[in-house]
Amino acid sequence: MITVDEALERILSYVDVLEPEEKPLLEALGQVLAEDVSSGFDIPPLDNTAMDGYAVRAEDTRGASPDSPVQLRVTGEVAAGYVFEGAVAAGATVRIMTGAPVPAGADAIVPFEETDEPFHKAPERSQQVDATVRVFKEAHLGANIRRAGEDLRRGQPVVQKGRVLRPSETGVLASLGRATVKVVRRPQVAILSTGDELVEAGQPRPPAKIYDANAYSVGAQVQRYGGVPRLLGIAKDTVDALTAKINEGLEADMLVTSAGVSRGDYDIVKEVLAREGDIDFWTVAMKPGKPLAFGCFRKDGRRVPHIGLPGNPVSSMVTFELFGRPALMKMMGKTDWQRPLLRAVAEERIVNRGDARRFYARCIVRERDGRYYASLTGPQGSGMLTSMVYANALTVIPPEVDEIQPGEEIDVIMLDWSHGEEWGTGSPPEAGP
Ligand code: AMP
Ligand code: MG
Repeated sequence: MITVDEALERILSYVDVLEPEEKPLLEALGQVLAEDVSSGFDIPPLDNTAMDGYAVRAEDTRGASPDSPVQLRVTGEVAAGYVFEGAVAAGATVRIMTGAPVPAGADAIVPFEETDEPFHKAPERSQQVDATVRVFKEAHLGANIRRAGEDLRRGQPVVQKGRVLRPSETGVLASLGRATVKVVRRPQVAILSTGDELVEAGQPRPPAKIYDANAYSVGAQVQRYGGVPRLLGIAKDTVDALTAKINEGLEADMLVTSAGVSRGDYDIVKEVLAREGDIDFWTVAMKPGKPLAFGCFRKDGRRVPHIGLPGNPVSSMVTFELFGRPALMKMMGKTDWQRPLLRAVAEERIVNRGDARRFYARCIVRERDGRYYASLTGPQGSGMLTSMVYANALTVIPPEVDEIQPGEEIDVIMLDWSHGEEWGTGSPPEAGP
């Protein structure tokens, strides 16, 4: 039996960061930057006004007050996106809109609110360029002026290689004029379900058959974590069917299979995996999800890592969460991928008696008065996907701990981050009549 940490370390040692690709900016959201980006020009490019108002020479407003306003000649107007041809002379002013470059000669902006502007109708005002405006307040030198380069100087580093693109990084790259960006490519993950009992969703279901849940839960995990799932469908428990499907899957960057790796199974999956690739079968000290296969296939000189998840739907999700997700993160160039681990107060007894395995019970974590509380989502059978449906977290009960009492603190891994309100009671609703 190996520990979860040993298993993860071995898996991560087999996966590499994928190569970069150039992508349209918006499509790269969530991907990792594969280049250092610095600014090609000053942002903002020119000194400009932060307010709608009047561009003035600050010294012309000296002593201005509501009781003794200063009167200035309005010699023009400038809107955002235009440059005022000419300069602001002594005793004169130019009407200016937010974002417009500050005209030559001006060194402060007086907002409309500090003038008699609100008493004029703007259209009339713009027709009478020779009008006057009265200023009620002294302007300090540089007042309301945003300086060229105050956000970013030309040549200044903006975002570094390794950063994940969030909306803010996307925005700043666009403000630098970038339409495309170099990011680490998303991994393609081939997903294969195995087992004679499985039927594809949407098909009629004979009584002894069950629908394939794993391809969809794991496919959704892949997608949520930034990979591109490729569902290969269901392989029957025959050598030929499995071999063909596995080969199809080797076009991808990673192959994930589910089922057929436990002890009691027909050994067909194990046999084919072992024959086609360099695969180890592990017994991991965790609950759920003890049996796990991991290894590599070779295809056209490439190494394709393979994770063989256990078949039980909860086990396959939990093992993908603990091993598949980090592998995907590494391929995508992410380093800061650890889930938030919290201390939470157990609201009920949690039993972990048995064969010394770390217990990832499905639980619901809620915040109350600044503390976190964890309660289990009902029965914890590894085939009961509803235990995941009603959970927002997993407990981390150490192998050597047999029992947790209500009120004791435990570690929990948050899967979905919220205050727990929308998670209801954390148990299935009553069945209807
Ligand atoms: P196995 O690992 O093949 O022994 O499967 C363990 C259990 O998981 C069995 O009850 C299977 O029917 C079930 N199982 C396997 N694959 C799937 C799947 N794709 N969707 C739902 N249940 C599955
Ligand atoms: Mg099976």
